[in-house]
Amino acid sequence: MSVIAANLQAVHRGIAAAAQQAGRVPEDVALLAVSKTVAPGIVREAFEAGQRDFGENYVQEGVEKIVALGDLRSRIAWHFIGPLQSNKTRLVAEHFDWVHAIDRLRIAQRLSEQRPAGMAPLQVCIQVNISDEASKSGVAPQDVPELARAVAALPGLRLRGLMAIPEPASDPAAQRRPFAAMRALLQSLRTADLPLDTLSMGMSGDMDAAIAEGATIVRIGTAIFGARVSATTAFPNSLPARD
Ligand SMILES: *Cc1c(COP(=O)(O)O)cnc(C)c1O
Repeated sequence: MSVIAANLQAVHRGIAAAAQQAGRVPEDVALLAVSKTVAPGIVREAFEAGQRDFGENYVQEGVEKIVALGDLRSRIAWHFIGPLQSNKTRLVAEHFDWVHAIDRLRIAQRLSEQRPAGMAPLQVCIQVNISDEASKSGVAPQDVPELARAVAALPGLRLRGLMAIPEPASDPAAQRRPFAAMRALLQSLRTADLPLDTLSMGMSGDMDAAIAEGATIVRIGTAIFGARVSATTAFPNSLPARD
């Protein structure tokens, strides 16, 4: 078995154990493999090991990879999970299936307008600044309801739920606190008109805590692909690799 396949198997075991601990079924927690800086050949290896959802942070790098793996396009769901500037929305609307980090209406409006007519609506989450850090992106929790209603009304998008990247914490109780706040916020938003079903939260270092608090998508990079080299090393021809 390849290293990637073995890592995927270990992550799936970890998801199953955390779900069981929380009284949840493992099938309710989707694994999003974060493939930023990972070469297309390695992504293909993960696909061959059964992985179907992949997450990218940088527009140019992500689109190059989607095109390079074009033969798999109908069998992979590509998630854009990075911060998005308005001049890059068209490429994302034309190539990706999901966007996790919507943090203002203008970006959502552009994505909706630019989503090609023949494609399914773009599945989106609103990023919440749940740890209230001045430097982090995301919407303040009190501003989420208004943005959620506006995003849900856009025809090219389908609002699925909320996403967060909490401030790193080492002890499990401290890790769970922001995830618990996310769970409560999603619950408070859910109505018949707003049937939200997604909590995108948990990374390699805090996956168990996120699953304990109701994560439905965990975004895992390092535990599958190993420690990242810089994007420019992995993609020497795609300068600037960071956008
Ligand atoms: C890189 C990244 C991840 C994956 O992080 P790991 O610690 O490598 O698992 C998840 N979410 C976002 C938004 C990221 O940028």
